[in-house]
Amino acid sequence: MQSRATAEGVTADSTTLERLLLPVASPLLDAQAGTGELTWLTREDGWQLLVRPREVPQHGEELMRFALPSGGQVSAYFDSDERVVRVPFDFDEAYRSYVSEAWRAHGSLRALSTKQLQVYYAMKRLIPRGLLLSARRVFVRRAGLPEFPKWPLDESVDRLMRFYALCLLTTDGTPRASFRWFWPHSHHAALMLTHDVESADGLRLATEIADLEEERGFRSSFNIVGDEYPIDMGIVRELDSRGFEIGLHGLHHDRSLFSSREEFERQLPGLRHAARKLGAIGFRSPSTHRVVEWLPELPVSYDTTMFHSDPYEPQPGGCCTLWPFRLGPLVELPYTLPQDHTLFTLLRERSAQRWLTMVDEIEARHGLIHCLSHPDAGYLGEPDKRSFYVQFLDALAERHHLWRALPRDIASWWRRRETAESSDAEVALGTMRRDGAHVWFEPPDTVTAR
Ligand SMILES: [Zn+2]
Repeated sequence: MQSRATAEGVTADSTTLERLLLPVASPLLDAQAGTGELTWLTREDGWQLLVRPREVPQHGEELMRFALPSGGQVSAYFDSDERVVRVPFDFDEAYRSYVSEAWRAHGSLRALSTKQLQVYYAMKRLIPRGLLLSARRVFVRRAGLPEFPKWPLDESVDRLMRFYALCLLTTDGTPRASFRWFWPHSHHAALMLTHDVESADGLRLATEIADLEEERGFRSSFNIVGDEYPIDMGIVRELDSRGFEIGLHGLHHDRSLFSSREEFERQLPGLRHAARKLGAIGFRSPSTHRVVEWLPELPVSYDTTMFHSDPYEPQPGGCCTLWPFRLGPLVELPYTLPQDHTLFTLLRERSAQRWLTMVDEIEARHGLIHCLSHPDAGYLGEPDKRSFYVQFLDALAERHHLWRALPRDIASWWRRRETAESSDAEVALGTMRRDGAHVWFEPPDTVTAR
């Protein structure tokens, strides 16, 4: 199926767990894939990973046990004679299965088929918005939330990374080790605010959202559709001069870009032209439609189409990570908070509380806090929803350990972090620590910047 990625579709050298926990690796960590099919391994607490498992000698201290679908089990062992940790799977394969969404081809997912999506978009133009919303609310209530990825917070990659750290610390026989911290200086987590502009009216309203953010010391990016509505270039220039970023939200606001390989290739020159005109180096696909393997071909340097976990999108799923990652030449910056439309329209929440709870959760894990909202009518264009956004911004303004940055700066940081010299003053060392099987990460303690 075209919408499904394979683990191999994301280049093996660029998408590795070592790139997340830089620059730590150990020759004493023996973690390799088996030769069989991709299979789900599960833990009693619900953590699941998609790998080609293998048997390892049952020798030494058992570090972690996983259940196989067949009813059998595989475990990781620490052989203290040889000081080797043997893991029954390959960490990078497990990581890629998550971030490439390769798991979608191996899970029961209540997604709409291509045919159903076509019908949905044909109907969407004909049915009044209110009626369409009621139908979606009924669908959401009936279907319930999927078991995987968990929503609103999925800890899969966080768990995998901690287990990887546990194995490294075990081979070293030490309770702590340094690694390249996730963010510049000693920031606990990164914060980015992005908006998709769905209409010409939305672009006019964008300046009002920009005012609210600027008053509180924030900047954000606005993703504009290249060839869907008249673009007021005066507004684009104004936003740019005020320190906001402009991104590209496709050429047309429909599912055409990823509808076929031919169509994708046909639209690439138009996308290149629109990106140049808008000064955009970032992209988000309309309604997050995507074929993950094709994203690296987009004429931009980062993408924001993918999400941590979102069962409410027309193409639901999730890359299960709270950190940026590489898709070939691209840096992917997944959104990690529920969309404004999901919270305030679909679920009819009446405050920013769920967003702020997620901010706490992600800050505690030192990930990327990435909020996606819309300035348009029906979204933050409405007074009540806008007041929730203001509530959110006011609370964020009090969080002094967050790195507030534009998407382009975060993408550029992520590349720099991978290759930086140790003399680079912004690149600090964090600490991974273990106490028994419990592993956690500590930011650099030198506070050099806010
Ligand atoms: Zn959109």
